[in-house]
Amino acid sequence: MTERFADHQHPRRWADNAIRLIEADARRSADTHLLRYPLPAWADDGSGPQVALYLKDESTHITGSLKHRLARSLFLYGLCNGWIAEGTTVVEASSGSTAVSEAYFAALLGLPFVAVMPAATSASKVALIEAQGGRCHFVAHSADVYAEAARIAADTGGHYLDQFTNAERATDWRGNNNIAESIFDQMRDETHPVPEWIVVGAGTGGTSATIGRYLRYRRHASRLCVVDPENSAFYPAYTQRRYDLVVEESSRIEGIGRPRVEPSFLPEVVDRMIQVPDAASVATARHVSAVLGRRVGPSTGTNVWGAFALLAEMVATGRSGSVVTVLADNGDRYADTYYDDDWLAQQGVDPTGPAAVLAEFERSGLFAFA
Ligand SMILES: *Cc1c(COP(=O)(O)O)cnc(C)c1O
Repeated sequence: MTERFADHQHPRRWADNAIRLIEADARRSADTHLLRYPLPAWADDGSGPQVALYLKDESTHITGSLKHRLARSLFLYGLCNGWIAEGTTVVEASSGSTAVSEAYFAALLGLPFVAVMPAATSASKVALIEAQGGRCHFVAHSADVYAEAARIAADTGGHYLDQFTNAERATDWRGNNNIAESIFDQMRDETHPVPEWIVVGAGTGGTSATIGRYLRYRRHASRLCVVDPENSAFYPAYTQRRYDLVVEESSRIEGIGRPRVEPSFLPEVVDRMIQVPDAASVATARHVSAVLGRRVGPSTGTNVWGAFALLAEMVATGRSGSVVTVLADNGDRYADTYYDDDWLAQQGVDPTGPAAVLAEFERSGLFAFA
């Protein structure tokens, strides 16, 4: 403790170096690709309006998902607020991609990291977090993870990163190469550089908040559509304007859908929401994987289902333009779950109906789903 505050001439020396390390890590990293999704000939052959679909490939971050951006922002926010200093134990309530990315940044700065998660969390996810040097702390009931994370932070004099509260405020929504600025920069030389729609899912809600604010700030005409899975509070809360609404069951689409409306979800910047059946998310993830020749995660399926629905609407109404959505993470993480037919059957998810809708969309550009 004495050493931590001994150098009064340079009270910020440790934090200065920590921020340099994070900046240096970013400088060594390339921006993520914006992939052009290969739509069938009808999208571009002059037989109707000309439409295009793009995927912002967030799976190529060093830690494998769009949570790399969030973790970086949460660490910088904690450092610049003076909440993270030398030796601070950093804590998060997460068993998923957020914890994997945060463990990476904690290791970069030489800080202890504790991820608080339900005891039922799969061994493979625990292994991913531990591989980055993080420690996993288990609670019996998933609802207790937040209070337990706050308690561990208080007991250790540490810092609770609190992704669900801080995601929207830790990210620079005006620019600084956030996901929205990067998309618009990469779209600049395309035929339709300003997308009709940008489609994202919501876990923390941070990505949709950043994009929605950026669209307003830059006065782009693009509209923001948030897609939501079954068993999530976001969609019913948005349509009913009841933001205290909670749902009992858990989302089955990893990374998106929450039992309550998280503080980082900003409904006022969302132009439209589409609820996507879980079977459709899985069917689309598999469809996209077959088209791209590489597996994508289930929330990417949710995103692309929504994007297809909007593209079909544009085609039906004779409107040319582009749609951008997010390839949120790699599907190899889900070989034993969403890509395993037995696991899927156990979950009661049957992708055959939605797969037929996708086949018809590929054939004709019609999206036959009520
Ligand atoms: C977190 C996450 C999302 C949603 O992003 P938010 O910015 O938290 O709303 C989507 N897909 C995956 C795989 C995620 O991990």
